[in-house]
Amino acid sequence: MYYFLYDNHDPKNMAILSENEYDRDICDNCGGIHITYTGNFNFKIMGKLLDFYVASATPVISERFLNVLRENGYTGFEATETTPRYGTVTTVGDPIKEKYYRLTVTGRCGLLKKLDGEFFPYCRKCHRKIGSTGLVTTGVTFAESEYDGRDIFAFENLSNIPIVSEEVKDVLLQSKLTNLRFVALNEWEYSDRILTRSARRSLEKGSIYPELIEAWLKYGVLTEQELNEQLNKRR
Ligand SMILES: [Zn+2]
Repeated sequence: MYYFLYDNHDPKNMAILSENEYDRDICDNCGGIHITYTGNFNFKIMGKLLDFYVASATPVISERFLNVLRENGYTGFEATETTPRYGTVTTVGDPIKEKYYRLTVTGRCGLLKKLDGEFFPYCRKCHRKIGSTGLVTTGVTFAESEYDGRDIFAFENLSNIPIVSEEVKDVLLQSKLTNLRFVALNEWEYSDRILTRSARRSLEKGSIYPELIEAWLKYGVLTEQELNEQLNKRR
């Protein structure tokens, strides 16, 4: 069994993104925006100092967490020092003396697949998981042949959520690291509903691409007939 690693996202004890420098890359097929932080990663911690946080989709770990990973010789990640401060959503406080590291997952297991083995809808150009597709499903899986065997890994198109094996999960729990929440891959709930009328509106505006139409037909957002009617209107 494999597990996604999340934090508890407790509103009293959480990490909040601060201003960061970044590069932005926009896919000309799906319009997806890819952000790469450059320089120091800045964030604030509100409440208690815990061992794991997800700050706006970026995992950060305490020095204690990093030591557990290193002592066990785990592979599949890079850790870079960050510059955290105490703070709240609206305020910035003192720098935090304890060290925190940004966790970049480098192990990979291919693109997201549903339990039936079909891929989640993705952009053929940038491989981003596309949204507003109508897909509602429980559980994800990967092909063993796509998994590089690292201890910490992630889907290519969900690269910020670490995945660990049962064995690694047990080690992390036995190490008493705080703020860890594990979700089994086969129990992961995914709900990307979209109203037919929103899909129609997007078609009218022309803000669509082939992968999205394919998904709408597959997941019953639009019928072939409704799609053709909309396309004829545009001509
Ligand atoms: Zn794309």
